Parts: sequence; C-alpha cells; structure tokens
Amino acid sequence: MFSYRHAFHAGNHADVLKHTVLIAALQHLVEKDAALTVLDTHAGAGLYRLDGDYANTSAESADGIARLIAPGVPALQPALQAYLDMVRAFNQGAATRVYPGSPFIIQRLLRERDKLKLFELHPTDLRALAGNVAQLEAGRQVAVLHEDGFEGIKKFLPPPARRALVLCDPSYEMKNDYGKVLDMAADSLKRFATGTYAFWYPIIPRPEAHDLPRRLKTLATKAGKSWLHATLTVKSSKITENAAGDVKRPGLPASGMFLINPPFTLKAALKEALPQMTELLAQDKNATHTLESGG
Ligand code: SAM
Repeated sequence: MFSYRHAFHAGNHADVLKHTVLIAALQHLVEKDAALTVLDTHAGAGLYRLDGDYANTSAESADGIARLIAPGVPALQPALQAYLDMVRAFNQGAATRVYPGSPFIIQRLLRERDKLKLFELHPTDLRALAGNVAQLEAGRQVAVLHEDGFEGIKKFLPPPARRALVLCDPSYEMKNDYGKVLDMAADSLKRFATGTYAFWYPIIPRPEAHDLPRRLKTLATKAGKSWLHATLTVKSSKITENAAGDVKRPGLPASGMFLINPPFTLKAALKEALPQMTELLAQDKNATHTLESGG
C-alpha cells in the first residue's frame, strides 16, 4: 500500500500552483451553460487541518499558502487572489486552519447541474474523503469511488453533455505512475478529444519526471490539440553537505501543471500570477517559473 499522504503536504508551494491553475480553469469552464463533468483521478482526503499532526510534521504550508497571507503582502494578481479567497472561504476569522483539497475546491465552483467523480485508493484517505463529502449534502452531484483513477475515468468519457475537466494529480510514489499518466492521457483523448485535461507532476531529478511534459506535449501536438505548460521552482534541487558531513536534501523544489485543451483565458491569467507566485514563494535565488503554450 502507498505511504504518500497528502495531509503532510497540504497548502505547500505545489498546491498553490496546482490549485491556482485549477480554479482559474474551472472558473472559465462554468461560464458556459451546459453541464460539466469533473473527474478528479487522485482525490486525497478532501479537507486538511493545517494545525493538525500531519501538517505540523513538515509544516509545508508555511512556505506555501501562509506566505500569501503574511503581513505586508502586496495586492495579489486576480488568479492568486481567487485562490486565496477560495482557501479563506473554508476558514472563519483570520487564521487559516483548514485547507481545501481539490475535491472541495472543485465542488465549491460547480453549479447544481454539474457532476464530480472522485477517485481515491488509500483506505484512510478514502474514509476521510467519504466523511467530508457526506457533510456537503451534495447528493448525487458528488460520487466518491474506491477505484484506480487511471482506469476508473474510462467509463465516464465521453460525459453526457460532452463537457469535462479531468484533474490527474498522482503522488508519483511509484515510478510507473509517469507511464500511467501518459497512457491515460492518450486513451482519454481517443475517448473524448475535446475535454480539458490537467496533469500535475513533480520536477525532480528523475528521467521519468523530466520526460513527462515533453511526452505530453508530443501527444497533444500529434492529436492536434492545444496545450499549456506552467512550472514553478521555489529553490535549488541540489543536495548539500555541511562540514560535519550531514547531507541535506532539498525536498520538492519545483512542480509543473500541463494542460491539454486549456481554457483560452488561462495563459493570460497565469502570465500575471506566476511572477508574483514566484516572488512570494521563493526560498532561494533559484526561484523561477516558466509558461509556454502551443497548438
Ligand atoms: N488531488 C488532491 C488535492 O489536490 O487535494 C491531492 C491528491 S494526492 C497528491 C494523491 C492521492 O492519490 C493520494 O491520496 C493517494 O492515496 C491517491 N492514489 C494513489 N494512487 C491512486 C490511484 N491509482 N487511483 C486513485 N487514487 C490514488
């Protein structure tokens, strides 16, 4: 069984990038009348306590969401402000104790006619997710599925109203997750070529991680689809060693979001937000971002 638990990482810099992109994309998609189906292939627990045991173990949110609400932060760019407003909506008062994961972010933006399918394999996260979702009293709008998201989405594509957003956010704990993402992307485009597909991935010194966006780009281009690729680096990826020989690993230094058929408004929104995100989340002078698109 997997050991990855998103509660250790909730609200970190990778979540800031992923959830800012998710909100900006979804806000555009719900502007059209027709019902939207959202498939969240790797849902996690749905809600996280930032003052709980898990989050405190690494306190990753201190270098993520917390930096956006620190005193002296200038006015935020619209996409970052929308992200912060979303997190605030789950918290009363000034303190940020609760962090919404992708299922709760998505559900809050949906209309009654839209549907949300959540896939989660880990039994503990599944239990937490099912309990959290039950409190929404969203009825048939939200379905929690104890299934492999890579496989499970197949039966929902194409969706009834032929409009869908797929968020694919694996933990990449297993090396073969990279290949599964590519297989899923290729299969999904065959089933439903006009869906919007959003893939998060870690930027780490591993060939599969390096290759993933390149291969997604090739896939989208060959299928004649537009794509958008945004990355955020907050620190150096170098492993350092002090005089006593203690080795310090940097943790996750960077991550990316790759979208196929992105909403046309997304690039402009990120062009404004990414420089500010980089500035606010920088942990050393290596902090940077990229934004490219094609198709
Ligand atoms: N998307 C969530 C968010 O943004 O709040 C975070 C998801 S976390 C990075 C990845 C989750 O996927 C973990 O909770 C893990 O248990 C679950 N998982 C791993 N492999 C899976 C699979 N094949 N299908 C569904 N869930 C899986």
